[in-house]
Amino acid sequence: MPEDTSYDVDLLVIGAGSGGVRCARIAAGHGARVAVVESRHWGGTCVNLGCVPKKLMVQASEYGDYVQDSHGFGWNTEQGAFDWGKLIAAKDKEISRLNGIYVSMLEKAGVRLLTGFAHFENAHTIVTKPTALAPDAKPERITAKQIVIATGSTPSKLDIVGAEFAITSDEVFGLKEMPKRVCIIGGGYIGIEFAGIFAGLGAKVDLVYRQALPLRGFDEDMRTALHEAIDQRGVTQHVKASPTRIRKDGDDLVVTLDNGSDVTVDCVLLATGRHPKTAGLGLENTRVRTTEEGRIEVDHHSETAEPGVFAIGDVTNRLNLTPVAIAEGHILADRLFAHTARSWSFDTTPKAVFFTPPLASVGLTEEEAAENGATDIYLSKFRPMRHTLSGRERRTLMKLVVDQATQKVVGAHMLGEDAAELMQGLAIAVTAGLRKADFDRTIGIHPTSAEEFVTMRTRTRVRGS
Ligand code: FAD
Repeated sequence: MPEDTSYDVDLLVIGAGSGGVRCARIAAGHGARVAVVESRHWGGTCVNLGCVPKKLMVQASEYGDYVQDSHGFGWNTEQGAFDWGKLIAAKDKEISRLNGIYVSMLEKAGVRLLTGFAHFENAHTIVTKPTALAPDAKPERITAKQIVIATGSTPSKLDIVGAEFAITSDEVFGLKEMPKRVCIIGGGYIGIEFAGIFAGLGAKVDLVYRQALPLRGFDEDMRTALHEAIDQRGVTQHVKASPTRIRKDGDDLVVTLDNGSDVTVDCVLLATGRHPKTAGLGLENTRVRTTEEGRIEVDHHSETAEPGVFAIGDVTNRLNLTPVAIAEGHILADRLFAHTARSWSFDTTPKAVFFTPPLASVGLTEEEAAENGATDIYLSKFRPMRHTLSGRERRTLMKLVVDQATQKVVGAHMLGEDAAELMQGLAIAVTAGLRKADFDRTIGIHPTSAEEFVTMRTRTRVRGS
């Protein structure tokens, strides 16, 4: 690749999160001169304040169940005390290890690392300002032929009286003590996952959300089954409700809801959405355009209105998931420096919600498929084998959504143990456009819950026309 020495680097990536790291690494691998600026934490949200610590906490929250369930299998186990401080310390140690891996991965790829908060001076020049990650770092000015904005997103706080008493997912991972009573506001995946975590760890949990069912946008049958599962987990759900204020009463926090009720807790967690992180970036010094809700507008090549400036990941608010940000970063680096484009099937991006039990899905919901035409629905609800002996009231729900005309499986959904692990394989089948007959001719693995996906013979209903 010919060097353009009129710029310090060929590519400057702002943000060392899921998308930025992949984009920088692949671009450097193609021979580009690459620099990355990071203001807060190497690895970004997923590693530090998202997927990874969240999943470790979900796992921590499930050990109590295993102890209880073991009794039905003949074990005389006793549940000891849970030590929050020990979990947080172990989690922090693991995250420091991952931070180190991200730094060394980038260094090995030959990427230049800059610590600081990036600000556009113009479309080809960035200045960095010191931040908490490196308060003594000297400000730097760096020019780049092309720039990728991969600054992610940040939690949104509700605009209500007393919102300052609440925390968001950014703070929850560092709480010094485990709250005994938690009120979680928001029925999206982050709210649901923390409801599961705190309930599993023994807290009293109140979950408040605006709709009649949690997880807007997911399949209705799954939402209904999740609603039941949340009840079974011992979480109190306040549906069709919103908080109007939060006040402090001694050591308590009191959340007043618009249905007139008060919820008294030790901790209020706002899980009320996230917004793209563009504040302070200096976009006004470029032609990059943002929408009213603040996401950076890009075309199908992730290019902004400013030629040579790109945006990937959560800051574009497309599908806000780590594997999607990674794929966007990879595609962009290939296109800019290898002139090839690896393709991914974004339409069949699988999703998981790590509640206990988890929910996972790929492809269309029943409602979406029915809008396209007649749809065959296959449903199966059963008690998983483990709970025949454990005695735990927990059901698994599985669902296949099949386009009647083509017989292609256009959606698969599951609420039940190991749903996320299982859905990855099903996502391959749905991405490949396999038909119901292909599922039917697949031999099951017995005895598993997963085999149900290849043994659902009888159509439950037809939807749409
Ligand atoms: P990020 O990973 O957020 O990285 C952006 C980086 O840019 C950050 O490190 C930030 O410090 C840096 N930055 C911002 N502004 C500047 C600046 N001006 N200068 C320099 N650096 C800057 N996704 C999943 O797929 N699975 C999950 O289970 C999952 N769980 C989640 C749980 C929680 C609680 C949260 C909050 C998110 C979760 N996500 C999950 C979403 C996932 O974390 C994001 O989709 C993903 O991290 C987006 O990657 P990104 O590269 O766009 O941004």
